[in-house]
Amino acid sequence: MSSVEFFSLQRQHAELYAALASAGARVIQRGHFILGAELEQFEHDFAAYCGTKHAVGVGNGLEALALILRALGVGPGDEVIVPGHTFIATWLAAEQVGASVVAVDVDPGTYNIDAIKAEAAITPRTRAIIVVHLYGQPANMSALAQMAGSRRIAIVEDAAQAHGATYDGRRVGSLGTAAAFSFYPTKNLGALGDGGAITTDDDAIAGSVRALRNYGSTVKYRHDELGGNSRLDELQASYLNVKLAVLDAKNESRRSIASRYSTAFSGTEGLGLPAVAECAGPVWHLYVVRHRRRDQLQEELHRSGIRTMIHYPMPPHRQRAYAGTTLSKLHLPHTEQAAEQVLSLPMWPELTDAEVDKVISAVLSAAKILGECPAEV
Ligand SMILES: *Cc1c(COP(=O)(O)O)cnc(C)c1O
Repeated sequence: MSSVEFFSLQRQHAELYAALASAGARVIQRGHFILGAELEQFEHDFAAYCGTKHAVGVGNGLEALALILRALGVGPGDEVIVPGHTFIATWLAAEQVGASVVAVDVDPGTYNIDAIKAEAAITPRTRAIIVVHLYGQPANMSALAQMAGSRRIAIVEDAAQAHGATYDGRRVGSLGTAAAFSFYPTKNLGALGDGGAITTDDDAIAGSVRALRNYGSTVKYRHDELGGNSRLDELQASYLNVKLAVLDAKNESRRSIASRYSTAFSGTEGLGLPAVAECAGPVWHLYVVRHRRRDQLQEELHRSGIRTMIHYPMPPHRQRAYAGTTLSKLHLPHTEQAAEQVLSLPMWPELTDAEVDKVISAVLSAAKILGECPAEV
C-alpha cells in the first residue's frame, strides 16, 4: 500500500477546482486586483464567521500580529508576553514593533500558555499577551481574560492554527482584544499563497490596521500614519471566499479523524495523547502525540509508510537567531521537553478511512515495539 502523506492539498483542490478556477477567472475579468469586492466580501463573511464586528485582510499571519501590536501602540520599552512553545512568528511580531519578548512556559497537557506563569511574568511594562491557540486548541481564555482585564493588558490571539475553534461556545478571533489569522496554504483555512487577517470588535484597532496595511492611508494619497504595505489581494480573497464556505465541513472531518485516533490510542503504553481543555472546541490543525523515544517512533512510522512531522523541534529561545541574547539563557522545561517528545501524525480533512486505519495500526505496532525495547539512558 502506498504511503500516507503528512499533509496534502491535492484532494481538496481537486474537489474545489471548478469553484477556485471560476473565482480566479472572475477577478481577472473584473481587472481589479488590490482592495476590491472580493476582499470586502471576505472581510464581511469572515467577521460574521468569527462573531466579531470587524475583519481586516492583511498580507500574512506575522504581519497580522505585528499590525495589531502597532495599532495598540506597543513599541520600544514595552513588554509582550508570549508562550515558549510556538512557531517563531509569535515572537517575531513583538520584535518587529521593537517591544521586548517575555517568554512563558506552556502547560504540558495542552501545549498552550500556562496562565499562572503568564500572570507571574507581568510587570508594569507589560502591554500585551499574545495567546497562541496551538495545534487548533483554544488556550485557557477565562483565566487569561480575568488576569488581563483588571490590568489594562491587551490579549492578542494568535489564531493562525485555529480557524473555527471555539471556547465556551464562542469562536476564536472573538475572545480577546484582537486576533491574528494566517491563511498560509496549510492552515485550516488556507489561500493559494500568502494571506492573513485580523479580527476585532474594537473600531479603533480595525481602523488603524486598515490604514497601516495600506501606507497609512484610507483616502487615496492622504497619509495619516507611517504605514506599510500588507494587503490581502483580490485573487487570494476570491479563493478564501470559496474555502470559507467549506471550513466547517473540513473542520468536522478533522474532528472525526482526531476522535478515531484518540479512541484507538487510548491506554497505549508510552504514548501521550493530546489533552482537550475544559470549554475548548479544538479544530485539530495538528494531531500531536508525545513519546519519550519520539525519534524512534518517527523512524518506525516512516518504515511503515506513515509520514510525520515535528512541531516544533527547537523552541525560539534556542534558535541561533537568539544566540547571545538574554532570552537564549531561559529555561522553559515543558517547552524544551515538548521539543524532544512531540510528533505530529497525518491530519488533513481528505484522509480516507483506510488511511486513518493504516496510521492507527502503524502507531499501535510501533508503540508496542518501542515498549518492548529497553529505553536507553
Ligand atoms: C503560521 C503561523 C504564523 C504565521 O503565519 P504566516 O502567514 O506564515 O506569516 C504565526 N503563528 C502561528 C502559531 C502559526 O502557526
